Amino acid sequence: MINYAGIIIEFATVSEIDRPFTYVVPDDLKEILQIGQRVKVPFGKGNRQYVGYVVGLMEDIEPQKYRLKAISELVDEEPLLTSEQLEIIQFIVKYYGTSYAAAIDVVLPPGLKDEPISRAPSHQKIVKLNEDELKVKIYYEANRHKQSFAKQKWIIDYLRECSKIEAKRFEGMKDVSKSSLKTLIQKEIVKEEGEAILWVQDPIGYRAFKTLNDDQQAAVDYLQALQEVETYRTVLLQGVTGSGKTEVFLHAIKDVLERGGSALVLVPEIALTSQTLSRFEERFGNRVALTHSRMNAKERQRIYMRAKAGEISIVIGPRSAIFMPLPNLKLIVIDEAHDTSYKSEVEPKYHAIDIAKERMTYHKGQVLLATATPSLETYYQVKEMDYDIVRLDQRVGGATMPEVDIVDMRLELANGNHTVLSKKLYQAIEETLKQDKQVMLLINRRGHSTFINCRSCGYVLKCEHCDVSLTYHSSAQNLQCHYCGKTVAMPEICPQCGSKHIRYFGSGTEKVEAYINECFGEYGIGRMDTDTTTGKEGHRKILDAFRRKEIKVLIGTQMIAKGHDFPEVTLVGILSADASLYMQDFRSNERTYQLLTQAMGRAGRGANKGRVVIQTYNPDHFVMDVVKNHKQAVFYEQELANRKVMGYPPYTHIFSVLVVGVDEGQVIRTIHLLSQYFRYYSERGQNHFRVIGPSSAVISKIGDEYRWRLLVLGDIRDKLLIYGKYCLNKFYTHENVSGVKIQWDVNPQTMI
Ligand code: ADP
Ligand code: ZN
Ligand code: ZN
Repeated sequence: MINYAGIIIEFATVSEIDRPFTYVVPDDLKEILQIGQRVKVPFGKGNRQYVGYVVGLMEDIEPQKYRLKAISELVDEEPLLTSEQLEIIQFIVKYYGTSYAAAIDVVLPPGLKDEPISRAPSHQKIVKLNEDELKVKIYYEANRHKQSFAKQKWIIDYLRECSKIEAKRFEGMKDVSKSSLKTLIQKEIVKEEGEAILWVQDPIGYRAFKTLNDDQQAAVDYLQALQEVETYRTVLLQGVTGSGKTEVFLHAIKDVLERGGSALVLVPEIALTSQTLSRFEERFGNRVALTHSRMNAKERQRIYMRAKAGEISIVIGPRSAIFMPLPNLKLIVIDEAHDTSYKSEVEPKYHAIDIAKERMTYHKGQVLLATATPSLETYYQVKEMDYDIVRLDQRVGGATMPEVDIVDMRLELANGNHTVLSKKLYQAIEETLKQDKQVMLLINRRGHSTFINCRSCGYVLKCEHCDVSLTYHSSAQNLQCHYCGKTVAMPEICPQCGSKHIRYFGSGTEKVEAYINECFGEYGIGRMDTDTTTGKEGHRKILDAFRRKEIKVLIGTQMIAKGHDFPEVTLVGILSADASLYMQDFRSNERTYQLLTQAMGRAGRGANKGRVVIQTYNPDHFVMDVVKNHKQAVFYEQELANRKVMGYPPYTHIFSVLVVGVDEGQVIRTIHLLSQYFRYYSERGQNHFRVIGPSSAVISKIGDEYRWRLLVLGDIRDKLLIYGKYCLNKFYTHENVSGVKIQWDVNPQTMI
């Protein structure tokens, strides 16, 4: 008999109450209470009602000092959390040092209210002909020759063929007259019924599957063998763009489904194109569902419940989809697995790959990391044999890797070319367009001019609230701060010395667009960055126009470099390869390498040979060399060696602390004091940690708040986390921390 329940209170982000509380189970719930259900419970002095989650059920407990309170009522009958999810929640709490409440919140779909979750409709109204065939026939024969019967006739004819159809869908068909349908229902020729539907899964569309080439087949065989023995593994599927990775995991998913399992596919937030989705739908029909952040909460809750009920067997979505409760989940595919969007920057700061590994360990399935440019962390795990690797080294259909030209922009300047395009890239664009092929131009900055300065006194226009220079936007005719979003009017004179000689430097997407329009306007030019794609359908429209070749040149930020497959693109130009190279981030080589390689992957995916022109002020940098000569292995080995020497991940883990506040002096005092705690406990403890800093963050002020950073590095993640939290707790206990915020993260993906 169940008498007590352990319950986590929903809002309990404060650490003292972030644990299960014991409640008495009232008699009427004893038979029905289950782990994972939501309940309402009185909490605190005033006994206010809160929603809580049942995480444990007990027959008996140790004697308690206080009188226990009882559960008030059940919120939903069906448990919202599966036992697997409860384990994942435990993992999140432990691995990321976060609260139970935050962990539960991230696992569940958004927008839950204190009421039963919105379910997929379990009934649907259907319409069909009266089973009394004679009655129908008499009516039909009596009227069929009348002109006015045409609309009714159409309905009867249709229903004779399809036996029954969902009422809503039928009414929505363009040939169906609502009033005629109503008449037929009144005359009992057509019957309307509410029928419980069993979700009928579409059959697998076998014909849509392509015959695999040898490399692809070997990859699929490898995954099948793992399915066969039901063993957890993480497998890197490393293949250049266009080598057929997607086709491989489509086959692998088919295999999983045939075995009665289900699969999860993660894609970077903006990379999921309608094209990718249709590749899934033509093969898996209604067994596949999409979830993403632009869907409303109700829709996402429905998909969650459908998945949980086993009606759906494949869910595709961005990072947050990793928590979808699919029963018998046997494969998690992470496409473009190197993408930084898989790491959450808000509490709980999880990485989807970590969660995927945990889930597949639970289900004895596999994580498949598909990418052309694995992260250094992933590469290292393969080297250490923690991950397996399967490779696709050839592009499908014999498409070859593009030819790469590196252009030294210093020489362009020396030769008097002040435009955004080198002579070589200009000519390449011209040739490509004349051959009726398409061009992608990548520039990693939006806006027009990224830098405004006074020629008389050298003053640089910066945001009043942030330590970043303002960007000139020609479409909006103003100056914008890309960090806090503030805009200011363009000054006519220098705010410092009054000179009229204000100049605009640096190129963003707008400037490139304007210049390309001037030179090649008649071919159709499109631009894609967050300024042009804010609307819901924004980027789809641009991409569709590009696919239809209404646009011949597409200019954009890195969002155009991701995952898209445009066979007619034969030229990719990268206008500023250096922008990411010299960020003050130990990952800058890796990021640059990935960006260039991904962008290159857009060129020559069809039958046509591709070409890539990379403009840089650092043509001798080793990243340029490995990209030009397709020396992938050299890049990884050299970069790993660098990391080892520097003591950075993947050889170590980073506990990063950021102190933020409006009073600069206080921020600096706080972080210096904090660093003393870290140094003190590092020296006293058995494990030594490396403390770097404190120093002003790369962007030292955002939205009037000053930012200072401290990095603590250690070899063992668990120990580093415990130590980091320990030092912070000591600090909070002994020091007065007011007026500043302290944020921390383990292994952050960006260092701004
Ligand atoms: P990736 O995911 O590695 O970029 P895709 O799976 O998207 O590669 O394949 C690139 C293109 O080649 C797609 O248009 C795809 O339909 C096609 N393709 C992939 N595998 C095959 C195959 N075995 N036979 C024919 N076409 C294929
Ligand atoms: Zn000036
Ligand atoms: Zn700003």
